Amino acid sequence: MPRLDPDSLDMVLQTLREYAARELPPDVLLRLDHEDRFPMEVLRDLYDPQQIGLHLLFLPEDVGGLGGGAYDIYRVSAAMAEIDLGIATGVLATFLGTDPIMVGGTPNQRRRWMQRIADEGLLVAYGATEPQAGSDLSNLLTTAVPVHEDGRLAAYVLDGRKQWISNGGVAELYTVLASAPGGPSWFVVERGTPGFSAGKPEDKHGIRASNTTMLFLDGVRVPADHLVGEVEGQGLAQAQAVFGYTRLMVAAFGLGAGWAALQRAIRYSQQRIAAGGPLSAKQGYTHKLIVPHAVRLEAARAYVEWVADRIDAGEPDLATEGAVAKYLATEAGNRAAEDAIQAHGGNGYTKEYLVEKIKRDVRITTIYEGTSEILEWTIARDRWQLHLKSRGAHYRDWAARLDAHQATHPACGAATAALALRALAVLLERCRIDRLTRNQHVLFRLGEIVAHAETAAVFSERSATTPTTAMPFDSALWQAMARVFAREAAQRVAFDGLRWAMGAGQSDPQLAQALDVGGAALAQAGLLEDMDTIAHRLNETYQP
Ligand SMILES: Cc1cc2nc3c(=O)[nH]c(=O)nc-3n(C[C@H](O)[C@H](O)[C@H](O)COP(=O)(O)OP(=O)(O)OC[C@H]3O[C@@H](n4cnc5c(N)ncnc54)[C@H](O)[C@@H]3O)c2cc1C
Repeated sequence: MPRLDPDSLDMVLQTLREYAARELPPDVLLRLDHEDRFPMEVLRDLYDPQQIGLHLLFLPEDVGGLGGGAYDIYRVSAAMAEIDLGIATGVLATFLGTDPIMVGGTPNQRRRWMQRIADEGLLVAYGATEPQAGSDLSNLLTTAVPVHEDGRLAAYVLDGRKQWISNGGVAELYTVLASAPGGPSWFVVERGTPGFSAGKPEDKHGIRASNTTMLFLDGVRVPADHLVGEVEGQGLAQAQAVFGYTRLMVAAFGLGAGWAALQRAIRYSQQRIAAGGPLSAKQGYTHKLIVPHAVRLEAARAYVEWVADRIDAGEPDLATEGAVAKYLATEAGNRAAEDAIQAHGGNGYTKEYLVEKIKRDVRITTIYEGTSEILEWTIARDRWQLHLKSRGAHYRDWAARLDAHQATHPACGAATAALALRALAVLLERCRIDRLTRNQHVLFRLGEIVAHAETAAVFSERSATTPTTAMPFDSALWQAMARVFAREAAQRVAFDGLRWAMGAGQSDPQLAQALDVGGAALAQAGLLEDMDTIAHRLNETYQP
């Protein structure tokens, strides 16, 4: 997949930031939030090719787009989320809504609709969820009944309800998932089609600048060539095909919003004096409220960038990696914003300091595009299969690669990440022997543990060889963060793994030794020193 050249990407990001500084200062964002108002004029500006033409980044070059790759989309999505997650969601919805056509549309359909999206900057909505079908789309009740005329398929008639649809009340084009006789299928529905209407905007906890509504389909007739791909039953596969990509976007939202909150907390802590000195100089404050979040956000970023590189290199089937990226980045963003309120004390509890709004906004990222629990399940299920297929070699081999990496890059925590991966292989095998994943909770906790162990491995590798250029951090700081995260992963696999395996009735009296619980404890040596370094460097980087 092509990528923008770095200068073009920088120009898009720069233009976006300048636009936000000019048009979306904090008082405007707070007003949109307070008035619960979707700023159509902002979306128009963002899509205007004379200004930013943001939607063009997401569209391929053959329909007049810029053909941005996964990396470009991650960077722009993070920058959007740093500005406002409600507005970012309006852009995400257009991208999501376009996806079924992009991956499943016939050449004619791609030309017809994507060309219009490119030329006219159409807002698009993605209609999958229904009142009784969210995480489990197999409960889909919306139907698409074929209409035959003169012996040929002429149209489909759609009936049903969609819920929680972003851009639902403002889009001009909708992709709607419905059950056709051949199975779930996507249909393109244009605004104004008789029988098609949107409900009133939902009164939401956060992202109040985004428009979220129900959709009502009462005998909506669409021509037969509005069936995406013109073959029934491809809908769920088409939705699945883009998860690696779209989940990366929401992962980027977690990073952008999480850092927006954390940067505010870091700057605030340097000005707020307590007990004779700034909060930023107090370990009890930084090592609880700041450093762990910076570390988790950057660990997730390393994983996001790893997945983006692989997508851009043309690797298919990265849905599980997309799930890990989204799961860790959004959980990290959500927790960072929560503690940014705490870090501001009473001020954090007011609107004025904005962290309260960011916290409400970022909350959605662990819910839409796959809830955290569904992602835990997806990750555990897929990696469980990998463990069985490789007879336990998958994580052992990765650990051996990390040991080799440690030899050439001794400061990146690779040995600790290797410890985590070896323990993970032991844990999965113990779960297999004792059939512990019959307990859903054990399976889901494995998803969480796997996500942490893999991310520690990737962060260790990349912190030394491929440090991010998205943040003002050097490799030494990223490596200190990788060491801290590897320690967290090692303790999670060993201690949490032992806990849940014991809790589920595992049978090995030597399991603690097999998981190398002692090794995971010893690996914590040096943790405080690394956290001190990170706190110091963050204070240097983000001056008030
Ligand atoms: C603001 C907003 C915007 C949205 N935008 C869109 C959009 O544009 N298009 C669209 O199609 N959808 C959209 N959604 C819908 C969103 O994707 C769903 O809300 C989400 O997938 C969860 O589905 P649900 O709400 O039905 O929750 P449920 O599936 O009912 O889940 C409820 C809880 O149960 C957990 N759970 C579910 N199944 C299991 C299980 N098998 N085992 C254990 N735990 C489980 C979940 O993790 C969750 O914690 C949006 C939602 C919101 C709130």
